[in-house]
Amino acid sequence: MGKVGIISSSDYNYDRVLRDVENLLSGLNVLKDLEKSSFLVKTNLLKKNKPEEGVTTHPYVVEGVVRFLQSHGHDVVIGDSPGGPFNPIILKSIYEASGIADVAKRTGCRLNYDTSVIEVKPPDAKVINNLKLVKAFTEVDHVVSCAKLKTHTMMTYTGAVKNLFGMIPGVTKADYHLKMNDIDNFANMLIDVCDFVNPLFSVIDGIEAMEGDGPSSGDIRDLGLLLAGENPFELDYVATGITGLLDSPLNRHALSRGLLEPDGIELFGIDIGSLEVDPFKLPGSTHVNFVSGRIPEFVKDFLLENIRPYPEVQKRLCIGCGICAANCPPKVISMKNKKAVIDTTHCIRCFCCHELCPEKAIKVKRHPLHRMVFGK
Ligand code: SF4
Ligand code: SF4
Repeated sequence: MGKVGIISSSDYNYDRVLRDVENLLSGLNVLKDLEKSSFLVKTNLLKKNKPEEGVTTHPYVVEGVVRFLQSHGHDVVIGDSPGGPFNPIILKSIYEASGIADVAKRTGCRLNYDTSVIEVKPPDAKVINNLKLVKAFTEVDHVVSCAKLKTHTMMTYTGAVKNLFGMIPGVTKADYHLKMNDIDNFANMLIDVCDFVNPLFSVIDGIEAMEGDGPSSGDIRDLGLLLAGENPFELDYVATGITGLLDSPLNRHALSRGLLEPDGIELFGIDIGSLEVDPFKLPGSTHVNFVSGRIPEFVKDFLLENIRPYPEVQKRLCIGCGICAANCPPKVISMKNKKAVIDTTHCIRCFCCHELCPEKAIKVKRHPLHRMVFGK
């Protein structure tokens, strides 16, 4: 199987991050003997956030990857399909807010503004036979997943594999949430996407990671690590092992599908045994992991019906922008008196609303019994 490298990188000092990324990627040998190629650096641009908010892959990490590829003679385009509508105006504003537009200016690489869509049939897919992708992302020779290490309300953890959900255009992502609204189906769909995209290598920005109610409303956690790997499933396995998030649906399904072999991972960089990292605070919604396949059906049904966490609008924080309503897959959010109102009886608990709210006005609420069963 593949190599995974881990190096310490204490903060976002421009020169040092660039140097650290280069040192890390040099250990992978992934570009050896590769002819001049075109690359997509698929960064995590969930929504319009500044780098210091800890939601998006830091632009210096992205720049390190771009410069590394350029120094080997390759052409690079940076891209993502953030949550919500996918159009050039919104892309421009997100590229600018996230610092990615500056990366393009400093390095001369391109930014993707092509929003056309292509449908493909992944040959080894388990749950998704017709996959819609951003066409431009399929026209490069290779993809690099350039992710941010965060907790995730639906999937527990997001890193190299989940980052590739952004290969799917705009609101199509909401369709996939609706069609695969079970945690195991959703995890398998993400694995299908990653397996089809088959990134040449992946990088995780864990300098400032996120714990708690990620991927956008959690707490920044100073982890001080950069990670890279040839196999995205193995890279995530190592990252979750360090952060106490190993029991994630993606790890479980990647293992059962034979896409990662923990014993075969060749580690380099700092000694993983020397790392002393307190486990990351889990998202408030995490019990969904326990619900999938580990406990008797009747208990599972009871939990799902009665005590599973749900999204709740904090009216004093809601500015009535309507982003949550526009992106709710089953359309159970309405706007009343310029405030969002959620019909939780038909909510599929995807937490897209929580993820995309620009004001952090949607909280993950927990039933008192949930606290008793799953702890604080
Ligand atoms: S809850 Fe958030 S996303 Fe929804 S309308 Fe209010 S501010 Fe906008
Ligand atoms: S209300 Fe929020 S969590 Fe529920 S289905 Fe809509 S977007 Fe998903």
